Amino acid sequence: MILSKDLEWTRDYIESIRSLVPNLIYLKRITSIHGRKDVTLGCHAQLWKYKNNHYRMSLYLNYYADKKIYFSTIEILSNLAHEISHLQHWTHSADHKILESTLTIMFMTKLKSEGYESEELEMRHIK
Ligand SMILES: [Zn+2]
Repeated sequence: MILSKDLEWTRDYIESIRSLVPNLIYLKRITSIHGRKDVTLGCHAQLWKYKNNHYRMSLYLNYYADKKIYFSTIEILSNLAHEISHLQHWTHSADHKILESTLTIMFMTKLKSEGYESEELEMRHIK
């Protein structure tokens, strides 16, 4: 899977849930998007069918309101869990939400084990 350089840190997270999401083999690329001053944030992430049953995903890392606002690690992983769940359940069904919740728990458990404390602490360093 091809990951944007600034999303390379998510690779271990994605690999850790591979057994729960068989269709992950069809996700070939995840691209990061940086917000632009002239574009309003419409969504936090997108997943689309590419060709030959392959999927591509894009994740926003930041956006502009009055100033540049960064998404926290928790927000990025939550968006990732949501989009990856669509690989198994295309619509926003109960099954999609159940898988998203399971992936979120696994991501947050791993994040916690790596010493992550809080969004507040993280965002204090990103300005
Ligand atoms: Zn969705």
